[in-house]
Amino acid sequence: MTAAEDCLFCKIVAGDIPADVVHESETVLAFRDLNPQAPTHVLVIPRSHHANAAELGEAAPATLVELVSAAAKVAGDEGLGEQYRLVFNTGADTGQTVFHTHLHVLGGRSFTWPPG
Ligand code: 5GP
Ligand code: ZN
Repeated sequence: MTAAEDCLFCKIVAGDIPADVVHESETVLAFRDLNPQAPTHVLVIPRSHHANAAELGEAAPATLVELVSAAAKVAGDEGLGEQYRLVFNTGADTGQTVFHTHLHVLGGRSFTWPPG
């Protein structure tokens, strides 16, 4: 699917809602989270609409790989080196609130495990 009606992140891809974009390519977009949970908190999303990481992987595996590559590039640009956390929430019970695939890139502080 290329876009979904009433999808917040499709609207960011379309430029209808502004975002602080830190990286973009033909297939992915990375922008700062509106409510950051760490000094660096960037969301990397495909331009095409898929509900979650697994659905993106089924439909466009190369784009799923590019999300991770883009996340590593963002981490480098942010000076995080190889100290960052990548998160795909899948389902409301895990905290997913936007049902357009997004990879959280978090860094700049220490993290605990297990996550809350
Ligand atoms: P989820 O909870 O679905 O894994 O992550 C959604 C993320 O999107 C949240 O961290 C939330 O702060 C972020 N977010 C929600 N609305 C907006 C927005 O309009 N702009 C940006 N940049 N981030 C948003
Ligand atoms: Zn969407």
